[in-house]
Amino acid sequence: MSEKPRDPSRDPEVVKKMARLMMQGAVMLAERCPICGLPLFRLKSGDIVCPIHGRVMIVSSEEEADEIKLDSTIRLVEKYAASRVEGLIGEEDPSRILEWLRVIEAVERIKQLRRGAGKEERGSK
Ligand SMILES: [Zn+2]
Repeated sequence: MSEKPRDPSRDPEVVKKMARLMMQGAVMLAERCPICGLPLFRLKSGDIVCPIHGRVMIVSSEEEADEIKLDSTIRLVEKYAASRVEGLIGEEDPSRILEWLRVIEAVERIKQLRRGAGKEERGSK
């Protein structure tokens, strides 16, 4: 006689966790955890969690995942460039500041382009 764990949503521990999430005001979603297949919950904070795996990121496509990655990279570049400019203030040679300002300018332009492209895409599709 062997007990096979099959449906995680029948696991009393998991059921308990799901009940706790609902009690905290979390909303059960139609989306399912890509790892275990349990329904996901949206917390009041906006985070999406799996009762077993905790925070998961729902992306509807690989493209969307790439977009998110690119967004965070752009933010990193901007932050880095800004800190470099800060470090260079007071130096004799302003051309180096100018170089980093150009990076920031480029980042800004990319952000604007991406915002514009996103809007157009949503509108036409
Ligand atoms: Zn899961």
